[in-house]
Amino acid sequence: MNETGIRIPVWAERVAETLGEGPHVVVTGISPSGNIHNLREVLVAEAVANALRARGAEVRFIFHADTIDPLRKIAPSIPEHFEEYIGQSLSRIPDPEGCHASYAEHFLVPFEEALAQMEMDIEVLRSHELYESGAYTGVTREAIEHTGELRGILQEVSGRRMPENWSPFLPRAEGSGKLTGNWVMSHIPARSSVLYMDENGREDLADYSKGEGKLGWRVELAARWKALGATFEPFGKDHTSRGGSTETADRMASEVFHYPVPGRYEYEWNYIKGKGAMSSSKGIVLLPKDLLRIMPPDALRRMFLGRDPSRAIELDLEGGFPRFMDEYRAEIGEPYVPFTHLVTVAQTVGEDTDTAAEMLRRGGYGEAARDTDKLARDLRYARNWAEEWAPESMRLGLLDQAESQEAAAGLDDEQREYLREVSRKLQAKMDGEAVQDVLYSSAIERGLKPKRAFAAVYTVLLGKTSGPKAGPFIAGLTLDQVRERFSV
Ligand SMILES: [Zn+2]
Repeated sequence: MNETGIRIPVWAERVAETLGEGPHVVVTGISPSGNIHNLREVLVAEAVANALRARGAEVRFIFHADTIDPLRKIAPSIPEHFEEYIGQSLSRIPDPEGCHASYAEHFLVPFEEALAQMEMDIEVLRSHELYESGAYTGVTREAIEHTGELRGILQEVSGRRMPENWSPFLPRAEGSGKLTGNWVMSHIPARSSVLYMDENGREDLADYSKGEGKLGWRVELAARWKALGATFEPFGKDHTSRGGSTETADRMASEVFHYPVPGRYEYEWNYIKGKGAMSSSKGIVLLPKDLLRIMPPDALRRMFLGRDPSRAIELDLEGGFPRFMDEYRAEIGEPYVPFTHLVTVAQTVGEDTDTAAEMLRRGGYGEAARDTDKLARDLRYARNWAEEWAPESMRLGLLDQAESQEAAAGLDDEQREYLREVSRKLQAKMDGEAVQDVLYSSAIERGLKPKRAFAAVYTVLLGKTSGPKAGPFIAGLTLDQVRERFSV
């Protein structure tokens, strides 16, 4: 645990051990070209940053938002006419929905808000601002001066031939606003500029100290390590494969920029059960802000990281979620109450925390009702999950009396007599276990199969033939509520 109460996983402690005393700069970078869902990347970096801090190191933790990156592909749900902006910087394209200052901000701001909600100690830097403020002027000049060496490394690692006029710097064409490296003609170091020719054959200058362009992605990776003083950055497995971007950037960093390659952690993907690998271009995403509606930040951290983020995990927000929450609550020492029971209670009492507490006490989970603020929070998570993710079988609503009578029309005489008998036997002070006992023994004594007996119970209460564990559920209701529905 660090001072903010966030647990530091063992794997992160091991990584921190290998990184030296510091001071450290932990960097994580994401392009806001669509909904930002890659929480695992940020969480891996956060865990290592926290582990370094716990070891007493000075740590700067940076989220490098690639806002100057060109738009490559239009995210799903974006109007088709945005095709015209392909090649332009995300920070200079309008917001498709008109609610933020740019295309980049539209996707970045909600993610930033989720990080704030998670109380993450992180600095969000926008790459277009870094270029505009001159933070990358030195490394850009260095890159342009070593164009030949950088091109050579790129060719060797990727095995592809680069064009003769390849440039590490992509000037922004004045007319079209597009970024491309194929037009650079010469470098004018005294003016921090390159001379380029645009698509119409017009020559112009682009000043790299003012953000009038950017470094190509692989070069930028190495250059920004140096400019930001990065000592650690996690990467997804797509970047670390042979011939991938880290192999190129590593060589560029040591051979051209003379900067030591930062520590690294390779993480695997998060998959979504039944859908596949998370991918914003395929629209398979889980947004942090939505997930924070159904679980606390620390549970979200645990879910996305798993035991070891170098292994792929499948996230199950549907049928498997209650078990995840039960394990999570047990691990952090929260009082025992099955998440499914919280879901039942939340759906039965709405936002009435006092009644919920009473239901929990009678159901035998009094400990979980002690802290009212916590209970209100837990019920909110349970209710949101029930509304947004729960399988149909777990969505409940207590029938009102008229609905209950209508539902009871489908029961036979044996089932009705059983309900009436149970109704007589129930007492106000019974807890969940005692009620369960009455339900079960009454069925056995009458020679009624328990399955049919319980079906009758669920039918008049919920209009379904199955439901949550009946004892604690009924114990949570008032005796009047039960009797009204059992007198059939
Ligand atoms: Zn917007």
